[in-house]
Amino acid sequence: MPRKDKAKKKPAAASVRELLRVGPDFDPAAMDARRVLAGPADKAQALAQVGALAGEVTALQERLYAESKGGGKRRLLVVLQGMDTSGKGGAIKALDRIVEPLGMRVAQFGAPTKAELKKHYLWRIEQKLPPPGTIGIFDRSHYEDVLVVRVRNLVPPEEWEKRYDEINAWEKKWSDDGVVFLKCMLFISPAEQKERLLARLAEPDKRWKYRPGDVDDRLLWNDFMTAYQAALTRCSTDYAPWYVIPSDRKWHRDWLLTHMVAETLREMNPQFPSPDYDVAAETKRVMAS
Ligand code: ADP
Repeated sequence: MPRKDKAKKKPAAASVRELLRVGPDFDPAAMDARRVLAGPADKAQALAQVGALAGEVTALQERLYAESKGGGKRRLLVVLQGMDTSGKGGAIKALDRIVEPLGMRVAQFGAPTKAELKKHYLWRIEQKLPPPGTIGIFDRSHYEDVLVVRVRNLVPPEEWEKRYDEINAWEKKWSDDGVVFLKCMLFISPAEQKERLLARLAEPDKRWKYRPGDVDDRLLWNDFMTAYQAALTRCSTDYAPWYVIPSDRKWHRDWLLTHMVAETLREMNPQFPSPDYDVAAETKRVMAS
């Protein structure tokens, strides 16, 4: 076996989060969005492996739910951020393949309504936190308040500047209350985004997905990347780390995300609560009934 093959050996699935975790030197300009970082380099095999996680993940989520019935407060919150067409919707469909609908709470955050703007920006986010025992998925999040808000000057700089610390403190509070954060940026290249936008325009049944505003954001790509760099480096903490998923290849994105979710749930190792009744006595009662 040539030495080259050994050196190229892919890391084990158990280290997917470690592989994708944002470090202090994170630089979107240096990212390769097409790279296959772990798992199969082949679409069919990657998608088969995603499907194969369903049984285990469903069982782990059920145990997490049972744990919450015994008073446990733990829940998993997957935060998805990314430029338009980065595949947040597709990623949610992949999670839907491995998690029971009853165990999943999806929340989408578009531009705030007038009523929401009157409140603190974290208010509407807090309303959508998943209850104990479930898996929450955020399609965009409070990070828009330091991304689009910063890029488009929707509030003065001194306002968004203080939000990084505020977000860290807020996430710490919820992490202490049992929320396990899995914050993922779906990273696509500008070239891939162009293709996806053109595909939306070309195909009549995809045109509804296209918003002329998507191009306005695209023209501010570098500003968005600067804002992402600040958000991900300043708000990647031990209690709520950020991960970057190379997302030009949809099947690889799905493989990485689903394996990160499985890995996190395994590590959470949820426990069935002990019954608060006498099992033998209850068995007798049921048999006699
Ligand atoms: P998507 O583009 O993800 O399919 P929508 O079209 O419903 O979803 O809305 C997303 C838009 O809302 C994005 O342009 C996003 O930047 C914007 N948005 C989300 N949160 C905020 C916020 N806090 N302030 C301003 N705009 C926001």
